[in-house]
Amino acid sequence: MRPLVAHIDLDALRHNYRLACSCAPQSQAVAVIKADAYGHGAVACAKALEGDVLEKKAPAFAVACIEEAMALRDAGVQTPIVLLEGIFSADELSYVDKHRLWMSIHSRWQLEALQAFTPSAPIPVWLKVDSGMHRLGFAPEQAASVWRKLEAMPEAGALHLMSHFATADATDSAYFSQQMAILEALAAELNAPLCLANSPATLARPEAHGAWHRPGVMLYGSDPLEAPNKLTRQLQPVMTLRSEIISLREIEAGEPVGYGGRWHAPRRSRIAVVAAGYGDGYDRHAVDGTPVLVNGKRAALAGKVSMDMLTVDVTDIPDAAIGSEVVLWGKAQNGEVLSIDEVARCCDTISYTLLTGVLPRVPRRYD
Ligand code: PLP
Repeated sequence: MRPLVAHIDLDALRHNYRLACSCAPQSQAVAVIKADAYGHGAVACAKALEGDVLEKKAPAFAVACIEEAMALRDAGVQTPIVLLEGIFSADELSYVDKHRLWMSIHSRWQLEALQAFTPSAPIPVWLKVDSGMHRLGFAPEQAASVWRKLEAMPEAGALHLMSHFATADATDSAYFSQQMAILEALAAELNAPLCLANSPATLARPEAHGAWHRPGVMLYGSDPLEAPNKLTRQLQPVMTLRSEIISLREIEAGEPVGYGGRWHAPRRSRIAVVAAGYGDGYDRHAVDGTPVLVNGKRAALAGKVSMDMLTVDVTDIPDAAIGSEVVLWGKAQNGEVLSIDEVARCCDTISYTLLTGVLPRVPRRYD
C-alpha cells in the first residue's frame, strides 16, 4: 500500500474540545465540524465528541448545509446540529424538521419560508446579524424587527443572535470592538442570548464568549491567533500527515532537483523522495525549506512539489533510509511536533486550506 496516511488522533480532538470549553466556562461550545470536520472526517469526530458534548448538556455541532447534517444523522449522531448557513431552498425545511436541526436565518426569504412551513415542532433559530463581516446576516438596524417577528412565530423555537468576527485573530482589536459594541447593544435591547466566538475569540476575547461559542479550527489543534498565547500552546495536533521515503539518491553540488530545477544542491546532497504530492492535497506552493520531519528530525523541502511525490534534503539526517517515517505535519513517532501553522506559512496559506485540502485518496486512520 502507498504509505501516505492521515492519522487522526481523537484523544487530541477531545483534549482541544475540552480546552475550548475551559476557555469559556460560562458558555456552551458548539463544535464546528463542517467541511467533513475540516478534513478529519465529520462522523468520526462527531462520535468522538458526542460523549464530551453530552456531558456538557445541550451543546451542539455546527455544519454548513443540510447534506452535512444528514450524513451525521444517518450515521446515528443524535446531538443537536446547527446549520450555519441555514437553508439554501425552502424545500429543505422538511429535512430540517425531520432531522431536528437548528437553522440560522440570514435572509428575509428564509424567514418567509419558515413562516410558510408547518413544522412538527418549533425549529430553533439562530438569527444571523451582519455586525461587520459583510458576508451573511441582517443589518443591525433590521435585526430587532426580524427578532420580534420570530418571537411571534409559532414555527420558530428557541432564539439566539449570532454573528461572525472578521478580525478576532488579529492583535489590533479596533474592528473587533466595533463589531462587539453593535452586538452588545442589540443583545441588551432584545435580551437575546449571543453566539459569536470562533476559535480566535474563544481563545483571546472573553468578552465575546456569550451563551454559546463556536470553536472550529482550534479543535483540530491549529493556533488561530496572530500572536500565540499560553492557551494556544496547549493545543494538540489532531491530524498527522505521515508518509515514508520511497527513494534516495546522492547528487553533486549545483545539481537541480524537480520540475523547473528550482532548487540547486548547495553541496553534495542526499535527496529523499517522499510519497506525498499535490494530488494528495499537499500544497504545491510550499517553498524550498518548508520543514518536514524525517525520523522525527527536521529536514527541508528541496524543489517543487509534484503530483504524487515531494523531495527533501536529508544530507544532515544520516539515518534517513527507504521506509523512514516522514511527517508532513503533526506528530512524529518520537513525539516531535511539526505545526501545521508553520507549514501553512511556508505555503503562503492558512491551516484551514491544508486540512480541508487533504484529498480522498489519502486514507484517514483513527487512533
Ligand atoms: N462560525 C462560523 C459562522 C464559521 O463560518 C466558522 C468557520 O469558518 C466558525 C464559526 C469556526 O471558525 P474557526 O474555525 O476560526 O474557529
